Amino acid sequence: MRPLNKGNTPTDAAGNAIVVSAYRDWRSRLINRIGYYCVYCNQPLSHSLQVEHVIPKNPPKGVSPGPALDWDNMLLACGPCNNAKDNTPIDANTYYLPEEHNTHLPFSIVLNANPDHAIVIERPGLNANQHHKAHDTIELLALDNIDERPAIVDIRSIKRKAAILSVKSARQVYDMALASTTYNANVVAIDIARRAADSGFFSLWYEEFFNEPLIMEKLTDNSIIKGTATNCFDSNMGYIPIPRNPLNPSDPI
Ligand SMILES: [Zn+2]
Repeated sequence: MRPLNKGNTPTDAAGNAIVVSAYRDWRSRLINRIGYYCVYCNQPLSHSLQVEHVIPKNPPKGVSPGPALDWDNMLLACGPCNNAKDNTPIDANTYYLPEEHNTHLPFSIVLNANPDHAIVIERPGLNANQHHKAHDTIELLALDNIDERPAIVDIRSIKRKAAILSVKSARQVYDMALASTTYNANVVAIDIARRAADSGFFSLWYEEFFNEPLIMEKLTDNSIIKGTATNCFDSNMGYIPIPRNPLNPSDPI
């Protein structure tokens, strides 16, 4: 899951914070800041982008609702992620959230036993607390769901598999480019980042190219893929993913 920084509330020409009367009216500004991806599964969306309340506006009785119209509480999600999350009370101690954590770190995308599908699992090597939190986040968003109904609606697992194939062919083209005498590292790195922008599922790309600093630089470049939290990647260390909350002793992720 890509870590995000969508920035402060957008302002009008006079510099005043914009106010909306319907939360859907944030959609175009959200796309402008973070791209047209579901923030949870990271699939690119061609339509049906749902403006979703991070903290639900209609939580169960006894739980405080999140702000209904505030920019700070808005993100973009696909139907399956938004429906799975529903009105579940959300907090950053219970779940990994793309604006609070380096959400690349606690998850892995793997092929399912049925290799037409790929699912999200807890990344091996987490401590018990982190594993629990990653597990609960996967459950919250049903990121391990495979929809086997004839009238399938949730195609996230199929799209993840397609993204795995895209990353594999990008790697093959990259390795061939390295062997070429006309190889231009910058052009190839930008090309790979643009393929990633088409494919989504960014963790697969970070995973494949984590030890290629120039490619990691382009993958996290907000002029190519908008809204990535650059403080989650160490520019002094080849843009490797790093924890976002290093001073939090119980969970630096
Ligand atoms: Zn999604």
